[in-house]
Amino acid sequence: MSASNCLRCCLLRPSVVGRAGATAATAKASAAATARLRQGMPLAAAAAASFSTTANRGANQKPKPGTKAAERNAPPSIRQGKLFTIKKKKKNDSGARVKSPLPGERKAFRKRILLSNTNALPVPGLTDLGAESMLDPSNVCKVLSLPDDVVDQLRADEAFKTTQCWSMFRKPSILIRTETVDLITRMHAAAKTNKTLRLVLTGDRVTGKSLMLLQAITQAHLNDWLVVNIPDAQELTTACTEYAPILDTEPIQYMQQNYVLKLIQAIKKSNEKLLLKLTTVFSHAGLPQNIPIKSPLMQLANSAKEAEGAWAVFQAMWQEMTAQGHGRPPMLLSLDGLTHIMRISDYRTPAFNPIHSHDLALVRLFTDHLSGATSLPNGGAVIAATNRNNAPRNPSMELALAQREAEQLGGGKDVPQPQPYLKGYDERVEAVLRNVQVIKLQGLSKLEARALMEYWAASGVLRITVDEKSVTEKWALGGSGVVGEMERASLLTMRF
Ligand code: ATP
Ligand code: MG
Repeated sequence: MSASNCLRCCLLRPSVVGRAGATAATAKASAAATARLRQGMPLAAAAAASFSTTANRGANQKPKPGTKAAERNAPPSIRQGKLFTIKKKKKNDSGARVKSPLPGERKAFRKRILLSNTNALPVPGLTDLGAESMLDPSNVCKVLSLPDDVVDQLRADEAFKTTQCWSMFRKPSILIRTETVDLITRMHAAAKTNKTLRLVLTGDRVTGKSLMLLQAITQAHLNDWLVVNIPDAQELTTACTEYAPILDTEPIQYMQQNYVLKLIQAIKKSNEKLLLKLTTVFSHAGLPQNIPIKSPLMQLANSAKEAEGAWAVFQAMWQEMTAQGHGRPPMLLSLDGLTHIMRISDYRTPAFNPIHSHDLALVRLFTDHLSGATSLPNGGAVIAATNRNNAPRNPSMELALAQREAEQLGGGKDVPQPQPYLKGYDERVEAVLRNVQVIKLQGLSKLEARALMEYWAASGVLRITVDEKSVTEKWALGGSGVVGEMERASLLTMRF
């Protein structure tokens, strides 16, 4: 059997004629494509056109691009009017230069605090807080405004938080709660007897812990106390600020110069009047600048100009501010975000071992005063507020605070014990909180809730009649008067 007669070979091998035909067709198509390219037409369209098997309906009438007819006419794989080109996306087609934010500008915007809304109505009969207002139980369930000079001091202390609703009202004002009077009375009793009140404000989310701390700071300023406030303890332990070991400390401690420089500037602004009045009683030989005895404390504070040396200046200032006698006023040392300093920090030693928060010198200063290891010689208060928002898990702190609360309530309430199978308890945390007072904040009473809602309504931000029905409704919606939740239920639509 000859090869040309083999049926199998014939079927598998393309015939000479067929091959020639295909070659001719390919040559024809490529010539057409070249011609189209020369005319500036897309190759895909050209290719598609040469393989089209459908009748070209309405070839003489060209449908408008973008119409349904155009879509219908288009071959299935091509989107009308669009060519896919692979090129880099231009950042700014208009050619105008867009100014990028300067360093720190974004953070400043994020942390911006607005304390007044000129569109809100001024509340008739709203009075300013006085030095004794928060001590007076008859002021419970009243809303009082913060005096202007105290507002400036609180701003310097960073006591206002971005999560609070200050920007909705004409003037920053606060509700006096039963717990407020309780806290302020304890602060005064301590100052009178030259003792140190050591207290932790705790409670569920948005129950008003930070605002209660603000009330304590306000009271301190109104009564001419010295105030040192650490507004957000998270900044100290999340490894976002520089740190350096302090020589001759065992176990080694770490200073955070940049943070301390910022803190000195805040202390200077918020305690300006006092620092100008008080004078130094010690000579500070180790400082870069010579500060003679009897110079104003402000001069000492001003000597901290750079991060380098800021820790030494802070230590000197602390020594001066807490010098026994010499007309030194009581002092408030406060901190928001206690949860963040009751754990192992995100910093590492040179050997890459984790550093406990209590080995950071500034944190150590606070915890020593909170635990009672050191006291304030001229009396005053050390107050910390826990935070439930963005808070790390902290079984030791939770347990210690629950134990203190149960002990305070007394009357047979069982003191909680550590769970035997739970890991992560920290002895150093327990030691700090072994002997502190605790105020647990819960929801507002209905009377307090009503006073607050009447203030909202008088400011024009709550547009309902405030009566028993509406108060009960919002109180219930706010999880039995949790103040932040009530705000959410009533003022959320107004927030901007
Ligand atoms: P977190 O657990 O998130 O730290 P928090 O307990 O610190 O919350 P705050 O920020 O103090 O809560 O308060 C929550 C909201 O309730 C804020 O908008 C605040 O303005 C409001 N608020 C709390 N207490 C008062 C008060 N006494 N008077 C007026 N408003 C208050
Ligand atoms: Mg808070």
